[in-house]
Amino acid sequence: MSAREPNVDPTEVQKFDELASRWWDPAGEFKPLHQLNPVRLDYLNQRSGISGKYCLDVGCGGGLLSEGLAERGASQVTGIDMAQGPLTVARLHQQKSALDNIDYLQSSAEDLATKRSGSFDIVSCMEVIEHVPDPASLVRACMQLAKPGGDVFFSTINRNIKAFLVAIIGAEYVLRMLPKGTHDYERFIRPSELRHWARDCGLEFTDLTGLTYHPASGSFSLSNDVDVNYLMHFRAPQ
Ligand code: SAH
Repeated sequence: MSAREPNVDPTEVQKFDELASRWWDPAGEFKPLHQLNPVRLDYLNQRSGISGKYCLDVGCGGGLLSEGLAERGASQVTGIDMAQGPLTVARLHQQKSALDNIDYLQSSAEDLATKRSGSFDIVSCMEVIEHVPDPASLVRACMQLAKPGGDVFFSTINRNIKAFLVAIIGAEYVLRMLPKGTHDYERFIRPSELRHWARDCGLEFTDLTGLTYHPASGSFSLSNDVDVNYLMHFRAPQ
């Protein structure tokens, strides 16, 4: 990926820009992210301990995970995104929450990796990798941004018939939890693909955990079922 051709799909970024003001409405278009937030923060905390850590939140959007990391005691959180609208919302909400240890920047992971490689104890990239043209390049940039031995987390959606039915037909068309066109099935990522890109850049696989949705309570829980949503944890090379 050259500097002239950043790893960004403008139509993807525009979708998030247009919805930016809705980001912190727990019943709005980003409801699934609100529902995912506590459980993914628990996962990060269990696996690497958030307190006192330097964290990078790649594709932070309106800042749901970034604020969660700061609330759980991260020393410093850097949130990056390519869409300006969500970043503006994230900065406004940060003031409302009185969290002064979060820095929001408009940047791609690849670009930041040229300036701040090896800087972060924890790199999280949640629900982003299925929106970029070159996922392998994003995985490599996340590895470069982590400190040696640091923790790198991804969450995304698997690619199979069940994921298509649940994440696109169910969430976008039946339950209308997400606007139509939020996800593109072709870009969903199998755990084996993510592991392969990670291995290619030297990340050590440590865990794969599923996220199961419970429609009655509107919550997610960690599970062994990785058919639809899942989390992966890697360790950066020493
Ligand atoms: N990680 C956040 C937001 C997920 S929504 C959360 O889970 O709460 C996906 C986000 O990825 C959007 O904010 C979108 O603007 C961002 N994004 C899409 N392509 C990107 C890219 N190439 N680089 C950085 N961010 C990107």
